[in-house]
Amino acid sequence: MAKRKVNKGLAVFCGIFCFIVGVCAGVIGNLYLNGGGYYIPEKEASSASVAAGNFNVEEIKSKELSIHFIELGNKYTGDCTFIKVGDKEVLNDARSRASSITPIYEYVSKYVDGKLDYIIVTHAHRDHYAGFATSKYEDSLFKKFDCENVIYFSNTDATSNMYNYFMNNLEEVQKEDNAKVYTALECYNNQNGAEREIALGANITLEILYHKYYVEDAPSENDYSVCCMVNQNDEKYFLFTGDLEEEGEKSLVDEYKKANGVDLPQVELYKAGHHGSKTSSSEYMLNVIKPKVVCVCCCAGSSEYTQTKDNQFPTQSFIDRIAVHTKNVYVTTLCIDYKKASYESFNGNIVVMSNKEDEGVSVACANNNTLLKDSEWFKNNRKTPSSWAS
Ligand SMILES: [Zn+2]
Repeated sequence: MAKRKVNKGLAVFCGIFCFIVGVCAGVIGNLYLNGGGYYIPEKEASSASVAAGNFNVEEIKSKELSIHFIELGNKYTGDCTFIKVGDKEVLNDARSRASSITPIYEYVSKYVDGKLDYIIVTHAHRDHYAGFATSKYEDSLFKKFDCENVIYFSNTDATSNMYNYFMNNLEEVQKEDNAKVYTALECYNNQNGAEREIALGANITLEILYHKYYVEDAPSENDYSVCCMVNQNDEKYFLFTGDLEEEGEKSLVDEYKKANGVDLPQVELYKAGHHGSKTSSSEYMLNVIKPKVVCVCCCAGSSEYTQTKDNQFPTQSFIDRIAVHTKNVYVTTLCIDYKKASYESFNGNIVVMSNKEDEGVSVACANNNTLLKDSEWFKNNRKTPSSWAS
């Protein structure tokens, strides 16, 4: 009996020992696989696929002007536009989350000769500026790109930690890398060395546009967005309005007319305001700019901001308003399942190119050149506007 009692005790001890060893191994393994236990939500994106594309970088570089809408490498919506003219480069916004820094850096660095000439930060929302608002300056795209000039929002209500990181990094980029930093308002007013019209090439300028929310309180952070327009040879125009919403768009149109005596010109390209939201791309502005090509930077059909399908980017009302002017609508990324962090390229990285002698622009996409209206997603999720029906 005594012998059996000892064996039973040993068995219980061994059982507990093995259990503890198993739990420890599991915890250590899990820490190892998840990068030391840091919670990095973007890493859940195991089912993601982003088209690498087959771009001929040298051919794109040979164009007088190329404008790139870059995929962000995660399930989140966000803006990143890159403009190249000869040896001049402009990065307009970058990143939605930490996992966007590497894809953006790898893509853009193929096109950057020496320093990155201009970084424009449209407004203090994570899906536009988080790449510049890292807790360590060394990790920011300011530092990685060795940038020469920064133009950022003139107004903000932001008070977050991310905003404080951004402001610290802005100080660092001036101190450490001698970058010149200007607000959009300084540019518009040609103050303190800033320029309203920045020469990118012999016949190509980048003009910082004005709207009232550079100086007034806005109903939403989106309305503080820095707006700009590329002018090629006074013949072709390309418009970028960040996440500006309806009231801001009205001010943009009215202030341009007040200052120039003429309306904003018709544009070859319009980066869809606020990712194709129902609250931007108002009729008031579209009736003036009459865009010929529209690129939407979003993860289409994602429930990130709303469960209401019609209001998920690109929204039905945005499509209805845009359809009056053009069928040429492209979208960067497609959401498969937001909760599972599953996404893939829609058109993928989109490049819009223009030589001055070309009629209009040419568009090349990394994944496919299918127009939004002809895509499976559109057919399954959106009603066809009458102007796209034919
Ligand atoms: Zn946004």
